[in-house]
Amino acid sequence: MTATGARAASSKATVDYYDKLGVTKIINAAGTYTALTASIMPPSVQAAVMEAAQHPVRLQELQHAAGEYLAKRLQCEAALVTAGAASGLTLATAACVTRGDTAAIEKIPVDMTGLKNEVIVQKAHRNDYDHALLNCGVRFVEVETLADYERAFTDKTAMTHFFNAAEHGSISREDWIRVAHSHNVPCLNDAAADVPPISNLWNYTKMGFDLVAFSGGKGMRGPQNAGLLLGRKELIDQAVKNAMPISATVGRGMKVAKEEIVGMVAAVDWFLSQTDEGMEAEFTARANRISDHLKSIPSLKARIVIPPIANRIPHLVMTYDQAKVKIAPKDVADALRHGKPCIELNPSTGHRNANGVTGDEDAIVVGVWMLQPGEDMIVAQRLHEVLSQATA
Ligand SMILES: *Cc1c(COP(=O)(O)O)cnc(C)c1O
Repeated sequence: MTATGARAASSKATVDYYDKLGVTKIINAAGTYTALTASIMPPSVQAAVMEAAQHPVRLQELQHAAGEYLAKRLQCEAALVTAGAASGLTLATAACVTRGDTAAIEKIPVDMTGLKNEVIVQKAHRNDYDHALLNCGVRFVEVETLADYERAFTDKTAMTHFFNAAEHGSISREDWIRVAHSHNVPCLNDAAADVPPISNLWNYTKMGFDLVAFSGGKGMRGPQNAGLLLGRKELIDQAVKNAMPISATVGRGMKVAKEEIVGMVAAVDWFLSQTDEGMEAEFTARANRISDHLKSIPSLKARIVIPPIANRIPHLVMTYDQAKVKIAPKDVADALRHGKPCIELNPSTGHRNANGVTGDEDAIVVGVWMLQPGEDMIVAQRLHEVLSQATA
């Protein structure tokens, strides 16, 4: 089937299962949040998924071919399509722990006898996704200063871990890599939400990180249960040995189906056909259309904020005098959530100092980048209704 054929077939689908199940469709004015299903695949990616669904193939042949193609396009030694960034973190850890000891693959995480099981991390980089590493039976060794870090390496050190978007932590990426490599220890970087810029897909591997994990369903708009693990061939090969479809592995439950592998490759093709300037201009235009529509709301001030690392795209941030517009931003979010159509605003709304966007202010935040064509004006109209109703 051609891509056009696949689109035609998808538009002919007779059953809307969201309606059948009574599930509310939302307008995503939040961003690439996992619980809001993160992103919508662009038409070319949806078509590639549909096309892949038509034919059985050998899964490992597809896994291998996709990896080689992605490594070339993303300028790294090797690549693996994972079941999301979190799965990439688990497989990366499994690779480092079982490196040079293939028999260990079947033993982790329960029997760590004789295996390196320590992961060095900056205390300020600890986060909820650490569980993805712990799944391999490792323990974290926390450091704060460069001197701590230099002293932390032992014969049990399997790897070091860096949280790319961490807001704190005193050790730079360059020092982090240099010291680890002086001990012959590989470095993993969790850069899950850190595109755009597009070049981040190769910046961190080129910088020297041995393994870098990205989420496929966030800024790249691939299938939500796909991701990329990029890096050194020896380690990616070892990650593959810890992954599905091999059954006696920690990775067996993180299956990536043919539709997602193909969808991830198509999403990378789509993403590389974009430009940072084009995306920024489009998202800025959406933000401006919304704020222009709200010009008549008394005291309302709008600005565009681009967070430094994760979700580095224009967000619309709006504040107003709550003595004049008598509704708190968090209540605006509730009104839009419970209205028709259902709109989810960015979760930084009503939270000071949230996600690098609100500063010290109680603000409405619109994450414009996951809006579908035309939805910016629906959001603008709903905001106008709710805010003007609250104006004395
Ligand atoms: C979203 C995210 C993940 C998980 O990504 P998935 O693709 O959903 O598995 C991991 N780490 C960070 C920092 C993230 O933001």
